[in-house]
Amino acid sequence: MSTFKDLGLSEHILETLSANGFEKPTPIQAQAIPLVLKGNDLIGLAQTGTGKTAAFGLPMIEKLVAESRRPDPRNIRALVLAPTRELVNQIAANLKLFVKKSPIKVGVVVGGVSINKQTEQLARGVDILVATPGRLLDLVARKAVTLTQGRYLVLDEADQMLDLGFIHDLRKISKLVPKNRQTLLFSATMPKQIAELAGEYLTNPVKVEVTPPGKAADKVEQYVHFVPGKDLKTQILKKSLTDNPDGLSLIFSRTKHGAEKLMKHLDHVGFKAASIHGNKSQGQRERALKAFRDGEIRVLVATDVAARGIDIPGVTHVYNYDLPEVPDAYVHRIGRTARAGRDGIAIAFCAPDEIRLLRDIEKLMGINIAVASGEAPADQARPAKGRGGRGNN
Ligand code: AMP
Repeated sequence: MSTFKDLGLSEHILETLSANGFEKPTPIQAQAIPLVLKGNDLIGLAQTGTGKTAAFGLPMIEKLVAESRRPDPRNIRALVLAPTRELVNQIAANLKLFVKKSPIKVGVVVGGVSINKQTEQLARGVDILVATPGRLLDLVARKAVTLTQGRYLVLDEADQMLDLGFIHDLRKISKLVPKNRQTLLFSATMPKQIAELAGEYLTNPVKVEVTPPGKAADKVEQYVHFVPGKDLKTQILKKSLTDNPDGLSLIFSRTKHGAEKLMKHLDHVGFKAASIHGNKSQGQRERALKAFRDGEIRVLVATDVAARGIDIPGVTHVYNYDLPEVPDAYVHRIGRTARAGRDGIAIAFCAPDEIRLLRDIEKLMGINIAVASGEAPADQARPAKGRGGRGNN
């Protein structure tokens, strides 16, 4: 088993790592760190929770420190792009831990907050800028920053950036960062568009992969309730929440409107609940997440986009109130529990019009999800009978 030292990291980073309880590298770190140090372009197939921030962050910091340069005013040395404000903040918080004993400065640029502060921050120059694509382009247009000194470009959660329609922004930004750079692309899935993107922006990339889709959630017990409609979903959900008063429950809804309505109902009947989705302001989302993380509220209703990448180690239950349209999203959702070696429970509700979605999920994961109540309509029953809850093969 390799250590961080074996991977070629230097003493000051090793000290910071052990001060933060990072004892040994995760699989993506063990694979990626030596390659990034060597200067390779990289495609990393890995989800949030696998330690991918450190996988690109540590070697990048190592190299930036070794170059011992300062960024010029309104310039950057490395750019990390991520799809959501939450993810940008999380990445930046991680990187700031790692750079504590170095002169490296980490900057953050996200939409939904004052642009003036960001302009001021950039005026002095930053070594690593973590940004959402839209706001970054605004700042470039205002000449608050230029990317021409960038030597490292990281595209994090690339599949999600495409889903959110950032493809044109990514094209624009990649033209602003010099060709002579090292590019690292991370994605949880590898649809055709991502492969094309990688072909365009990366040079002879090495591919590293951990937890292929569908295998991520081996430690999660999974159940499904077949229900005729929403009313019974809500009823079973409330009973389950009542039965687990000490749990930390994350509930996924397909729409913003649905998430808000469900949260209001749960709050009305006495559960301490909050919601995060695209109609909430940055401040509201951050407050809700903090309260949930601290256990002040025990129930958080979320949409996929708002919850993507969020790392809350204590989540005990993930509810799929609505099943997602794409099966990969189910794997991401249930990956929000059973983190850091803990057990977790994932409960799905399946209305008659969602059976197709359920079957797609089971196909992707190579399992039959255990039926907790109800049954699928006879004409849509599975070929073989469902097996027990643990999601292994
Ligand atoms: P990430 O996938 O980068 O979002 O990381 C998920 C979580 O794991 C974060 O809270 C990290 O601080 C933590 N983490 C990452 N790598 C390690 C490691 N080698 N040892 C302990 N914790 C880690």
